[in-house]
Amino acid sequence: MQGFNKYYPPDYDDEKHKSLNAYRGKHALGDRARKIDQGILITRFELPFNIWCGTCNNHIGMGVRYNAEKKKIGSYYSTPIFSFRCKCHLCDGWFEIQTDPKNTRYVVTTGARQKDEDWNPEENGGFAIHDTEGKAGPSDPLAVLEKSTDAQNHLTKVQAPRLESLQAVSEQYNADPYTLSTKVRKRFREEKKIEKQKRDADDQIKGKYALPETLGLVPDDDDAKDEARQAWERGRRELELRERSKRRRFAIDVTSIPAVAPSREQRKLAASSSKRSQPHNTVTSLRARILENTARQSDPFNPSSSKPSGRKGAGVIFR
Ligand SMILES: [Zn+2]
Repeated sequence: MQGFNKYYPPDYDDEKHKSLNAYRGKHALGDRARKIDQGILITRFELPFNIWCGTCNNHIGMGVRYNAEKKKIGSYYSTPIFSFRCKCHLCDGWFEIQTDPKNTRYVVTTGARQKDEDWNPEENGGFAIHDTEGKAGPSDPLAVLEKSTDAQNHLTKVQAPRLESLQAVSEQYNADPYTLSTKVRKRFREEKKIEKQKRDADDQIKGKYALPETLGLVPDDDDAKDEARQAWERGRRELELRERSKRRRFAIDVTSIPAVAPSREQRKLAASSSKRSQPHNTVTSLRARILENTARQSDPFNPSSSKPSGRKGAGVIFR
């Protein structure tokens, strides 16, 4: 029985016995290590393929498990080769299976026959994937020579000159780092000074007109001034044109007032205006009011003119 518990008997001496297992004369792996002196450990081994027992000739399916005697029998490079000796569960025969690290598989050595179920691509009209022989070089020695000559040419005519030119550029740049650094720093200082002046000027303007800090100002140079002047002149010209066209339209409207009886609105307007102005000015004030109405109707920014009025007479608003 393995020493599962940690009971230390009174006569147990740590220095003498070293461990409880040693005190009881047991191996840590217990009964599985009963043949450990022969280099055999009992392990549970599962059949990796179908076999026929060599003694009873029965078929034993893949996946059947045995208490196999595992033993190291050699090594492939540094990888150990193990053999598993199992007793057939249908008879008293033994069979042995070994690992095959070279081909990463198991092989049956004695006492049984393996059922060959490996997929063979060549048999099934395909090509073998693993080429264990390794690639042989080109058989034509002239082809080999040509290949090496091409590589040599490429090296001498393309790669070496490219490397040399790169090296020359690098040397030129790294010849005098002190001078280069001085130049760069000098330019940087000058630019920094100009930048600071500009920033100060901008800040002054922003402070004067209470502009937000984040507002970016365009540089104060001749181009910007020219641009601003042109924009101002353009705006003024457009305004003038608009005014002129408005005036012209009023004149046309006035001349085309129909000679019909005045509407209720007109009469009202006339009455209201006559109250305020002199009686002999009635016609003049009526005209002025009509002009005003017309202007309001044709003004695109006047909300009252955006109403669609189907009965739009010349210069008179009918409501
Ligand atoms: Zn058997």
